[in-house]
Amino acid sequence: MGGMDSSATNVDPAEIAKFEAAASRWWDPASEFRPLHEINPLRLEFIQRTVELAGATVVDVGCGGGILTESMARSGATVTGIDMGKAALDVARLHALESGVAVEYRHQSAEALAAEQPGRYDLVTCMEMLEHVPDPASVINACAVLVKPGGRVVFSTISRSPKAYLQAIVGAEYILGLLPRGTHDYRRFIRPSELCAWARPAGLQVAALEGMTYNPISRQYRLTGDVSVNYLACMERETEHGQRA
Ligand code: SAH
Repeated sequence: MGGMDSSATNVDPAEIAKFEAAASRWWDPASEFRPLHEINPLRLEFIQRTVELAGATVVDVGCGGGILTESMARSGATVTGIDMGKAALDVARLHALESGVAVEYRHQSAEALAAEQPGRYDLVTCMEMLEHVPDPASVINACAVLVKPGGRVVFSTISRSPKAYLQAIVGAEYILGLLPRGTHDYRRFIRPSELCAWARPAGLQVAALEGMTYNPISRQYRLTGDVSVNYLACMERETEHGQRA
């Protein structure tokens, strides 16, 4: 695990191409990005429970068109967004200009930024991205390097459970049509236990785990204790001495 630390290898070009093809619709709330728009207030709430965004230095890894990135900047953080998709970043830059929010967007992998700016950030976010990467442990390591000792890393991804298969693939892609078919590959889903097992040797201690569930009748997402499908994890970077801050 975590064997690949070269940024050039830890990218799946087919995954990037899928997001690139849809990039122009990133801010269209009726598009396939609708679920990201709908869960965004929940993600922001989860982050703000432990992190004061005003004045914080933040990097959003795999930021896409900048839905979360912009909302953190609006909350007063100094935010950098990185992604390996160029079209998504173009859309993100234009949207930030239009909405008058200052965000720095860079076409870079987490591993490359970590080599350049270790320990620079109060908060690292990496949402709905690990399940699209060949070696998620390498991204987790890079996030741990990017954050300051005592800082936080917040991940969100999808668990690999029968319920996740039914809801995130059969339900979302085939029955409800919320996402295009083929958006997710079940084999790339990550159980909370796996995420935590990768995080620990990187010096990240799990501070909070919370599920996000979708009710197809009310069309509402909410935070829940059920982490068997979509979930969020907040981790704290140990200090130099291996202690929590
Ligand atoms: N984090 C955003 C977008 C999630 S979509 C949000 O939740 O709102 C997944 C994003 O991950 C896409 O923009 C895709 O281009 C990006 N991505 C996939 N693999 C990546 C990699 N190896 N490095 C950086 N970004 C990657």
